[in-house]
Amino acid sequence: MTEIERHSYDVVVIGAGGAGLRAAIEARLQGKRTAIISKSLFGKAHTVMAEGGAAAAMGNVNPNDNWQVHFRDTMRGGKFLNNWRMAELHAKEAPDRVWELEHWGALFDRTKDGKISQRNFGGHEYPRLAHVGDRTGLELIRTAQQKIVALQQQDHAETGDYESNLKVWAETTVTRLLLDGERICGAFAYVRETGRFVVFEAPAVVLATGGIGKAFKVTSNSWEYTGDGHSLALLAGATLLNMEFVQFHPTGMVWPPSVKGILVTESVRGDRGVLKNSDGERFMFDYIPEVFKSQYATSPEEGDRWYDDPDNNRRPPELLPRDEVARAINSEVKAGRGSPHGGVFLTVVDRMPGGAAEIVRRLPSMHHQFKELADVDITTEPMEVGPTCHYVMGGVEVDPDTAAALVPGLFAAGEVAGGMHGSNRLGGNSLTDLLVFGRRAGLGASEYVDALDARPAVPETEVEAATAEALARSSARTARTPTPSTPSSSRR
Ligand SMILES: Cc1cc2nc3c(=O)[nH]c(=O)nc-3n(C[C@H](O)[C@H](O)[C@H](O)COP(=O)(O)OP(=O)(O)OC[C@H]3O[C@@H](n4cnc5c(N)ncnc54)[C@H](O)[C@@H]3O)c2cc1C
Repeated sequence: MTEIERHSYDVVVIGAGGAGLRAAIEARLQGKRTAIISKSLFGKAHTVMAEGGAAAAMGNVNPNDNWQVHFRDTMRGGKFLNNWRMAELHAKEAPDRVWELEHWGALFDRTKDGKISQRNFGGHEYPRLAHVGDRTGLELIRTAQQKIVALQQQDHAETGDYESNLKVWAETTVTRLLLDGERICGAFAYVRETGRFVVFEAPAVVLATGGIGKAFKVTSNSWEYTGDGHSLALLAGATLLNMEFVQFHPTGMVWPPSVKGILVTESVRGDRGVLKNSDGERFMFDYIPEVFKSQYATSPEEGDRWYDDPDNNRRPPELLPRDEVARAINSEVKAGRGSPHGGVFLTVVDRMPGGAAEIVRRLPSMHHQFKELADVDITTEPMEVGPTCHYVMGGVEVDPDTAAALVPGLFAAGEVAGGMHGSNRLGGNSLTDLLVFGRRAGLGASEYVDALDARPAVPETEVEAATAEALARSSARTARTPTPSTPSSSRR
């Protein structure tokens, strides 16, 4: 008989990225025994790849910014197909969530007068992205992890056990959500190192499993992005919405082939980078859609002046929302004006007042990435870039205020949840989405548990079905794997 380990929690959070960690912190702060389950190592979630920053209308660099403008930008970027309530909550609460991170120990870049620095990004009217160089996601995860360790130390002081109220299950993959009738009652998982099966009994489960981008050949996404949460939710009876809305970031590396798809952050354009075709033209001026015409410069001179005098000039069209820029690049390539390897040119050469040193200071990861992976020095040479799959706007349908899915006891936050970004996410809006709705999911799950008359019980039939399914998958995989003695001819 298959041996199965069992553990009981109040709230189980699946995913240890920004959304999962923020949800777990909140559930623990609400006094709930909480588990964080992650199929990757703790600290290695996709969120660490986030580069450009977290969008929040703090008004540190331009005092005209406020939550209403952020809300409008988000709705316009999403083609007004966003869940407006989610966009409203996000715009209102993002500044507090960034401040909170700072209080927990995050070290953001500063303005000259010591405020949190904010940079320009596509579709945002004002400089709005709080950032740590171009390694913002790493700092977000580091800070949330530090907070979790602090909470565990507090628990140890009170109970003698670090993991009494908040435990991390790393390299543990959830394969099924468990149901007691129509209610969530837990999750079924296996531990990668040992193959051991684990049943997590819990009345509330928060999905924070990220996206689906690994389904595409050219992608900026990590190996984790196989849509696990989307399928877990669907199989448990939840609804998905907007799954046709997949974002292609305009600037991924196109050469060499081994690195095709790796992201070239939008900060490059936010920090004065421009796009050119093989004729040397800044072609984005030909692609400004009617709805954005009043906000964008009509000449390169005006666009360049905007960086230093945004009140009297309009922004350059390189900073249009991502879908517009990606489509324009495709059109240029199709018209025969692409770069040698099927993209276009993105350059910061001679664009920053501080020259090469400023490029390296503002874009350290990009400088390193191109030097190491493509032998291109971005301080002296242009980059070749083209669209790459980046983000799924579609996801689990949730209640905006509580993050509750349609299945009682199921909650979702972060990239796995749908609605917030309409048909196109603005850069920087994901990191604050994780914090705003991660917190709300942790709170929603805790309040749901508090309101229960009786906890659901895990039916044995559910465990048996999940076990049989996991064993069937693993034997199918074993049957497909050729043994070392198999002759190479029969392997082909
Ligand atoms: C290169 C790059 C740069 C980006 N830069 C920015 C940026 O500057 N600003 C911005 O706002 N956004 C940015 N984004 C987008 C943003 O990083 C993501 O949308 C966001 O990090 C998603 O966070 P999450 O918490 O939803 O999921 P993730 O961080 O992906 O976490 C998902 C977690 O779920 C776990 N998991 C998945 N399936 C299972 C399972 N079956 N069982 C157990 N665990 C599971 C994973 O192991 C992981 O721990 C960028 C994206 C990329 C790819």
